[in-house]
Amino acid sequence: MSEPARPNRLASWLSLPQRRLHVRIVLLFLALLLVVQAVSFFTIRGVLERAADRRVAVELRQGERVLARLLVQNAASLRAAAEVLAADYGFRDAIASDDRATILDALANHGQRIGAAAVLYSDLRFQPVASTLPSSAGEIMAQARAAHGDDATEPGDRPAVGLVDGRPYQLITVAVRAPRPIGYVTMGFPLTARLVEDLGELTPLKLVLLQRSDGGTWVPLHIGPYATAAQPLGKVLDVAAQRVTVRLGEDEHVAQLVPLASSGGQQLAAAMLRPLDDVVTEFHRLLGWLLAISVAGVAVFAVGSLATARRITEPIKSLSESARRLGAGDYGTPVAVSSRDEVSVLAQSFEVMRTAIHEREERIRRLAYWDALTGLPNRAQLLDHLAAALDQAAQTGEPCAVLMLDLDRFKLVNDALGHGFGDRLLQAVAQRLGSGVLRGGDIAARLSSDEFAVLMPASGAETARKVALRLRQNLQQPLAIGDQAVDVSVGIGIAVYPDDAQTAEQLLGRAEIAMYAAKAQFTGLKAYTPELETAQLATLSMLTELQAAIENDHLRLYLQPKVALADGRVAGVEALVRWQHPGRGLVPPGLFIPFAEQTGFIRSITAWMIERCIACGKMLKEMGEDVEFAINLSTRDLLDHDLPLKVERLLTAHGMAPDSICMEITESAVMDDPERALATIHRLRAMGLSLSIDDFGTGYSSLAYLKRLPLHQLKIDKSFVLRMEHDRADEKIVRSVIDLAHHLDLEVVAEGVETEQVWAMLRHWGCDHAQGYFVAKPMPAEDFPAWLAAWQAPQVRLHTEFSDTL
Ligand code: C2E
Ligand code: CA
Ligand code: CA
Repeated sequence: MSEPARPNRLASWLSLPQRRLHVRIVLLFLALLLVVQAVSFFTIRGVLERAADRRVAVELRQGERVLARLLVQNAASLRAAAEVLAADYGFRDAIASDDRATILDALANHGQRIGAAAVLYSDLRFQPVASTLPSSAGEIMAQARAAHGDDATEPGDRPAVGLVDGRPYQLITVAVRAPRPIGYVTMGFPLTARLVEDLGELTPLKLVLLQRSDGGTWVPLHIGPYATAAQPLGKVLDVAAQRVTVRLGEDEHVAQLVPLASSGGQQLAAAMLRPLDDVVTEFHRLLGWLLAISVAGVAVFAVGSLATARRITEPIKSLSESARRLGAGDYGTPVAVSSRDEVSVLAQSFEVMRTAIHEREERIRRLAYWDALTGLPNRAQLLDHLAAALDQAAQTGEPCAVLMLDLDRFKLVNDALGHGFGDRLLQAVAQRLGSGVLRGGDIAARLSSDEFAVLMPASGAETARKVALRLRQNLQQPLAIGDQAVDVSVGIGIAVYPDDAQTAEQLLGRAEIAMYAAKAQFTGLKAYTPELETAQLATLSMLTELQAAIENDHLRLYLQPKVALADGRVAGVEALVRWQHPGRGLVPPGLFIPFAEQTGFIRSITAWMIERCIACGKMLKEMGEDVEFAINLSTRDLLDHDLPLKVERLLTAHGMAPDSICMEITESAVMDDPERALATIHRLRAMGLSLSIDDFGTGYSSLAYLKRLPLHQLKIDKSFVLRMEHDRADEKIVRSVIDLAHHLDLEVVAEGVETEQVWAMLRHWGCDHAQGYFVAKPMPAEDFPAWLAAWQAPQVRLHTEFSDTL
């Protein structure tokens, strides 16, 4: 399990910015340590080097002293031997003989006995008398005097070294007494390899004897084991007591020159060599230790500082991880506070911030996902649930249904009884939605003002239908709000996944389409079918077309005269709209007015109509014709508070009197929202406009309402007038309506007058005006003046068959 996680953790660790801090701390510490280590390393190395130097110097000095001592000791034992010889009776006799040959002979014999290479006898003034080495007698004498001073009997502690014929000797001079001194014997003992070996045994030094003449280069003398290897020494050695390092053979040596003797141009010196191999080995061994300790120190330090850096950066890392989570919007995970340092204080502040944001987020989420008024989920939440339910449904293969509900006439209630009441009504509806009918798992939500939806997971069309029916029944029980009982009805649309839609939005949209269809067709309940959408699309395109019709001036004003039955005078015209459609030709109002009323677009048509009528009326007035224009108003117009104002402005703009306009309203237009409609009507009336009740007799005419309306005129619906010629019932209705109107002091207009007979009957019954094809069909407004000029009242007589009944 942990194996594959590892590279990931590593990768994330490497990619974290804290890595840099972490690494930087370690690197900084290491760098500091390295500097310290380097300084101490070089210091110690210097100390070691100097110690080695000093040791070598001390040894060389000791060597120098040992050499001097050796020479002195040697000289002392030689002197002892020489003195024994000088005291020898035979020898003294030979000397005293004064015969050179005898003296020379004694010198050679005795000298040989004690190993002297040269023996010389001189008088008391150090004048040579006889010498075994006659050629060098002067030379020996000079050096002997230099070594011993004038008093040869005084041995001192001098090494008495000299050069004879370019070779090193110890020159010993003793007095010959008989018994008073009569002369001196000087003996020369060659310096041998013994001396060199002795020094080698007593000290770690090697000895090489060198000589030079006239200040030239030193040349090693072939004495002792090192003479051959010491050849290069001559080049480097110059000044006495100077130490030089020189490579002889394999090894390094420190060499120091000790002058031994000089005579004439000749100089003799000893070079003491200190081989460095052991010093170097020792030095390197110490250095190795030092290096090892340094490296080990760095390693221990690196591990230690890595751990420390981790301990420091780990909380920072976890803190920044928390910050990253917060940044990514995850406020649910607490910020870890582990350590007890400054970082933890920061972490605690983070935690406080996180909880605050978390709480605020929760609050915002509540606001964002719940409807504040009803406590139901809102649209956003429903969509979330819906999306989840659809995912689930896609997996299980089960269907999923959505119901969309819209209250009927809610706006009316809201307007009439106030928003407070409306709110309580919505709350009551929400409560009822949730109670009883819905099954566990179903979710009711409020989408917008009076629109609700129910999500039914794992439900098909049939179940949805049953639940919808029960919901409707449930809501039909009157709701008690305060002391009022309110009847609520709803239109419900149903859409089911996967048959009707694939996505949440689409499903909701299609349930809505079905709901609008249910409301439009007063069926209360409707399941979505694609045809509904086509109808809606057609509607939509109609709306854009109508808009274009106004913009492109495709609407036409048609006029139909209203004529006084008594004298045939043209009392007014009814304005009727036509749509000159570029493709479909002249479209009658029946094909687009109902739609315009549904969508509210009728307001634009009405505005267009009023404007045209006033313009046209003004034109006729200028021609000397005073004609009243009757304009049809529908429900939406009556709910438009601004309508009276618009009319007034247009009238003033054209300088027309208000009484030149009559508004035709229908009962149903008033009944939809009586309060508001009545307010508009009263204001129009107050402005001086005439009012006519249209299509009288078709609605559930209520005389009570008729009484409340400030009317001038009543128009008997054409359905009665058209049939009254042949239908006695319609005839009676028309007659009684005429009477009723007159009793209420209203003018009566009969519309749909197609025949002469109907005209005659109406006139006979005292009807005031007639409108219909018998007089004229609706005509384009521009044709009206010509028609008016040609108009003559019909001369009609009543048919006999009717005169009987009258
Ligand atoms: P309405 O207000 O009842 O208009 C009278 C309708 O009866 C007109 O139909 C007219 O042509 C027709 N008519 C008149 N005399 C006769 C006749 O002798 N016999 C027959 N069979 N019919 C006759 P139209 O012009 O098709 O209008 C139909 C309806 O459209 C109107 O009924 C009116 O409700 C509405 N309408 C027309 N123009 C407008 C308008 O500008 N605004 C509004 N809101 N509605 C309008
Ligand atoms: Ca009308
Ligand atoms: Ca009518």
